[in-house]
Amino acid sequence: MSTYKELSPSLRTIMTPGPVEVDPRVLRAMSYPVLGQFDPEFTGLMNETMSMLRELFRTGNEWCFPVDGTSRSGLEAVLVSLIRPGDRVLVPIFGRFGHLLAEISERCGAEVSVIETEWGTVFDPETVIKTIHHLKPDLVAIVHGETSTGQMQPLEEIGKACRELDILLVVDAVATIGGTPVEADAWMLDAVIGGTQKCLSIPSGMAPITYNSRSEQKLLSRKRIERGLADPAVGRSATRPVTDAIRSNYFDLSQLQDYWSPMRLNHHTEATSMLYALYEGLRLVLTEGLEERFARHRRNEIALMAGLQAMGLEFYGNQASKLPVVTCPQIPEGIDGEQVRSMLLHEFGIEIASSFGPLKGRIWRVGTMGFSCRQTNVLQVIGALEAVLLRCGFRLPAGEAVQAALDVYAGK
Ligand SMILES: *Cc1c(COP(=O)(O)O)cnc(C)c1O
Repeated sequence: MSTYKELSPSLRTIMTPGPVEVDPRVLRAMSYPVLGQFDPEFTGLMNETMSMLRELFRTGNEWCFPVDGTSRSGLEAVLVSLIRPGDRVLVPIFGRFGHLLAEISERCGAEVSVIETEWGTVFDPETVIKTIHHLKPDLVAIVHGETSTGQMQPLEEIGKACRELDILLVVDAVATIGGTPVEADAWMLDAVIGGTQKCLSIPSGMAPITYNSRSEQKLLSRKRIERGLADPAVGRSATRPVTDAIRSNYFDLSQLQDYWSPMRLNHHTEATSMLYALYEGLRLVLTEGLEERFARHRRNEIALMAGLQAMGLEFYGNQASKLPVVTCPQIPEGIDGEQVRSMLLHEFGIEIASSFGPLKGRIWRVGTMGFSCRQTNVLQVIGALEAVLLRCGFRLPAGEAVQAALDVYAGK
């Protein structure tokens, strides 16, 4: 007989930059019976998911589908498919996830150049554009919302500059998609990677991506020619050097798109229950309406910030480029940030995040994302943080924080 206990995870209030709470309707969707991957009912769901993703990414792109794996699987799929070994890649870095883009690009065999700006700030687009003109890279990869620093990079001008010079622009919008506008077409982004466990409030395990025909052209030019098969694009006798082929099977977008096309060429087995979750999660996003959803994220951000400010906390980073879905209060002098987080979790069942690298011990990161981004959660985290800070000996004007947030909700 097994002595393992029945699975019974605690109920938590999750106010981190992901994973966040999942809407019960999405959890229910994941419990439905499995369909075969070529069952027309299932391929119908795949098509509808693609169509909802087009609305989410605000694009007319043919290719909008999820890669199975966490968000970085989407980053790897796009980069390994678009970077030919020896390509020049520019990565402007303003936090931890910029380093990830540079690392993956290096592993793809790119000649990577990086420019960095101080953490807590973003790039003046002109700085990036000047570097682009100087380096003339084949591809630029950049993060939109840096959850590590709570900063958001404006992309429109960079997109325009890349298009003028015929450079591919790849954007990590993992943290921003579904919480604040991401405009694939209007900003001229050639490939965009989203995340599920952040503002979409779907469990981690898929990475929705989109890419346009410019990207498709490049990755098809690297499509692996199967032994013994003619490649209609290149002609019967053509042989393409194997060294040029996309160096991954699982992440080969030229194969993945054949699976998501009406041809349904078998690649992997689609993650059925995750696709149900994505379908239902996207349906909820579009039912709420993108504009309404962005406004809800802003309203809760403002209330949270009003509460934290009323407690006497200060914010990290340039507030003009603040990421709306992550708020970074500085840990006050003499307060042990990890002790506060531990009390929040164990006494109140609330999780907020610590931080990475140079920011460790200096800031907390509070997410207001997706299903977690709601008034009751914001009021709870403010009230609990005030109580814990008082307990830790921090002097603050007791009672004012929740009132300040309530004022925001009351429209005062
Ligand atoms: C969370 C996050 C990722 C990584 O996502 P995983 O799902 O953990 O692979 C990448 N980029 C950004 C900006 C993120 O916030």
